[in-house]
Amino acid sequence: QYPFDVEAVRADFPILDRKVGGDPESPGEGPGDDTPLVYLDSAATSHTPDPVVDAIADYYRSYNANVHRGIHQLSQEASVAYEEAHDTVADFIGASGREEIVFTKNTTEAMNLVAYAWGLEELGPGDNVVLSQMEHHASLVTWQQIGKRTGADVRFIEVTDEGRLDMEHAAECIDDDTQMVSVVHVSNTLGTINPIAELADLAHDHDAYVFADGAQSVPTRPVDVEDLGVDFLAFSGHKMCGPTGIGALYGREEILESMQPYLYGGDMIRRVSFEDSTWEDLPWKFEAGTPSIAQGIAFAAAIEYIEEIGMENVRAHEDLLAEYAYDELDALGGVEIYGPPGDDRGGLVAFNVEGVHAHDLSSILNDYGVAIRAGDHCTQPLHDELGVAASARASFYLYNTTEEVDALVDAVGEARDLFA
Ligand code: PMP
Repeated sequence: QYPFDVEAVRADFPILDRKVGGDPESPGEGPGDDTPLVYLDSAATSHTPDPVVDAIADYYRSYNANVHRGIHQLSQEASVAYEEAHDTVADFIGASGREEIVFTKNTTEAMNLVAYAWGLEELGPGDNVVLSQMEHHASLVTWQQIGKRTGADVRFIEVTDEGRLDMEHAAECIDDDTQMVSVVHVSNTLGTINPIAELADLAHDHDAYVFADGAQSVPTRPVDVEDLGVDFLAFSGHKMCGPTGIGALYGREEILESMQPYLYGGDMIRRVSFEDSTWEDLPWKFEAGTPSIAQGIAFAAAIEYIEEIGMENVRAHEDLLAEYAYDELDALGGVEIYGPPGDDRGGLVAFNVEGVHAHDLSSILNDYGVAIRAGDHCTQPLHDELGVAASARASFYLYNTTEEVDALVDAVGEARDLFA
């Protein structure tokens, strides 16, 4: 049934054996400890398999030291592992080498890096930046504020009733004054898989750069920067079996080369005098100060872990669970699901149950041990467009099963009946 041995994968995630939840007989009475965990919140943060936890422990137990500067052996070992982690990330997304991979704290910091280092310098009145209505706040708020500071206009490609980008509107938004097109690859709310390559062609026809927010796509499907034709791509380790505190910015080498640093300090300089300074080579020019060394090394271990399963297999598994969840929730009745049909979306489903607030729903589901997200998922303007303040979201990853989807659907059905 599954494209790989999901039970064997689950064995690498001891957290999945945890018991949580309250008693469904007395809802809302707080967390209990006797209900099996059904974790359907990986779009927010995925779990971390043993080999990745081991990589972190091994670093601290065996070769913990600061990178780059040291001549002693531990520092050299840490430096090699940390630097090679950039190569692993580069290979994973088809970048040409470590020069194109800057480690950041997360997707948000990668966005801000480009917005500050490139946007503040290059944008001005008369220019425009094109986003979509389904952007995460990480990109929406960032470009909105850079727009205010530089006088550049920020435009939003509209979303159709089916939850797709209106590509005719995209063609109207992108013009000769467009400097940057920044669009989410897979929407964290609608599940829509956006046509980034098509947008990149449009943008490049007008000499604009393209920035894909890969926070939901890079963890869940094969992503190749050459195939997509993007100039920038951002993603977070914690959504792809890695630790928190580490993410990556891919940038085309000549663009990164032309950009000023974002943070100044140690490790990013070549020569400093009282009057002036020069910068290190890429990517270190953008990694000021002591970086997240253990996290960077573990990020590479996470990529090795998911590559072992195979990104095509991960995508097939996501597709299977998304379609099954969509169909089963739809069949329940009284459930409004947002975004495109079940057979054409990323591995997440956002929805509302008639007469039940998403927060109440999530709290009842917690009593059944089912962990989902409720709220605006950092897409408030999109929720305004949908005409709701909040939604519930179930999201799936490589360790989830159809039985867990059944547990979700059963609990949603119970919640709907409770409020009927
Ligand atoms: N973009 C998208 C599409 C996301 O789903 C998220 C995480 N919810 C982010 C950006 C931000 O990721 P992070 O919090 O790791 O910076």
